[in-house]
Amino acid sequence: MRESFDTIVVGAGIAGLGVAAILASEAGEKVLVLDRYDRPGGRLMSYPDTPGKGWKVDIGLHMTELGDASSIHALNERVGEQVAWGPFSETVQFYHEGRFINIAELVPMSGDERRAFGSTLRLIAELGDAEIAAWDDRSLAEWLVENVSSEAVRDLFADMGMIMTTIPEAIDMAAGEVLYIGRDNLRKKSQLLTSSYPIGGMEALTRGLVRVIEDNWGRVETGREVTEVMFAGGRTTGVKASRHKPEGPYPGYYAMPQPEEIEAGKVVCALPIYQLPAIIDFAPATSPMPSWWTKRITDIMHEVTCLVGFMFGLSEPVTDKLCFFTALETPHAGLPFQAFPASNFDPAVAPAGKQLLHTDVVCEYPEASDPFERRRILGRLWQDLLEMFPGIEDAVEWKIPYHVVGCDGLARKPGLVGEFKPKLQAPGIENLFFAGDTYIGRGLAMNGAALSGMQCADLILDRMA
Ligand SMILES: Cc1cc2nc3c(=O)[nH]c(=O)nc-3n(C[C@H](O)[C@H](O)[C@H](O)COP(=O)(O)OP(=O)(O)OC[C@H]3O[C@@H](n4cnc5c(N)ncnc54)[C@H](O)[C@@H]3O)c2cc1C
Repeated sequence: MRESFDTIVVGAGIAGLGVAAILASEAGEKVLVLDRYDRPGGRLMSYPDTPGKGWKVDIGLHMTELGDASSIHALNERVGEQVAWGPFSETVQFYHEGRFINIAELVPMSGDERRAFGSTLRLIAELGDAEIAAWDDRSLAEWLVENVSSEAVRDLFADMGMIMTTIPEAIDMAAGEVLYIGRDNLRKKSQLLTSSYPIGGMEALTRGLVRVIEDNWGRVETGREVTEVMFAGGRTTGVKASRHKPEGPYPGYYAMPQPEEIEAGKVVCALPIYQLPAIIDFAPATSPMPSWWTKRITDIMHEVTCLVGFMFGLSEPVTDKLCFFTALETPHAGLPFQAFPASNFDPAVAPAGKQLLHTDVVCEYPEASDPFERRRILGRLWQDLLEMFPGIEDAVEWKIPYHVVGCDGLARKPGLVGEFKPKLQAPGIENLFFAGDTYIGRGLAMNGAALSGMQCADLILDRMA
């Protein structure tokens, strides 16, 4: 007899693990989580002893907005797991005219302007949900013009918006999302934006969820690629999953997968929308989904932010600051920049006395997906780093270039945030759900994904009640 499950979750990122851990621990559901990669965590993965003993490298540059007051912390707490946090970032340092400075130096303000800044913070902290939602399809630039008279304060908010959205221009940022993130941080931590890093690296955020699933008779199976969500009579019936790792120059041809059919009462697709066409038929004539939905998903799926950067293992620290580094535009690459010395926040992620430093620049889909453009950007970023962190060249023990297309959900642009994001339940299919950073769920990237996971689980629990 074929094995069957109450719920199959496709994808063992924070959102998928979150949905599964809640359904298993709160509703006693028999859950199966399948992930095509060889370990759980998705984009919140850390690699122990990579690239050598004593280094624990995350998949990329990460910092968690709100730390112990974040949705990702709340998700872990909800299923009985604790996450310990390192210190909060003390400042944000902007690279400007040849040196790193803090925001007060970047945007100097008179007494009147400081008072205007204070009143803007109060205004944001007091905004209601409906007021924020009304700005989901309008730009931060418009909100600033309508609500802030001081030009210096407008500049400051535009710079902070860039850090929240990784979008360079305020005219392209969704005001609703920036206001939501700002309000959440102000109410919980009395600052416009805060960030922290979990002790033990990013893996510390997902490890406990796997434990909860397994303690509640659920399974997390890695190295299992879902090739199709199955449908019959207007419902999903489960998935087809392969154990095969594609090899050879034409994987589909040389390595014909032999998928296994696994039945389930419900399926949760916890993978980003741009990966959905690989597992759900999008062809208009045969798709189980309505054409308006597949068209909407196809229309927005390349609206993502992309990163190109280096991770460094340094023989000695190039900075002892406990902060997040940024630049609105670097001198050589000419792109928004981010750097995070993870080992300053948790020394255990690097061997004693050494430094783990993540760096990247934010770019658009055409640049990040083109290997020649990437090489050009990396060359320029290296020039930027030589200038920003004197001594880095001599301290490099290892240096790993990386790029990501689709780093943190849908681009936080007007019309792509809040209720404009794809919903958590499939239209017209009562037992197919979605979760993750590209679906409904507010908050900065990993927090959006965690909240989406909790909201998806609540929706399912509600339907079951
Ligand atoms: C380099 C980088 C830097 C980042 N920096 C930050 C930061 O500083 N702050 C922040 O808040 N967020 C950051 N993020 C974003 C954050 O990591 C993500 O928002 C979050 O991890 C998304 O979680 P998720 O569960 O939605 O998706 P994912 O983690 O992508 O999970 C989806 C899972 O589905 C699996 N999958 C896909 N297709 C299949 C298939 N066919 N079959 C089976 N499994 C499949 C994938 O292997 C993956 O494990 C960063 C991301 C990256 C990549």
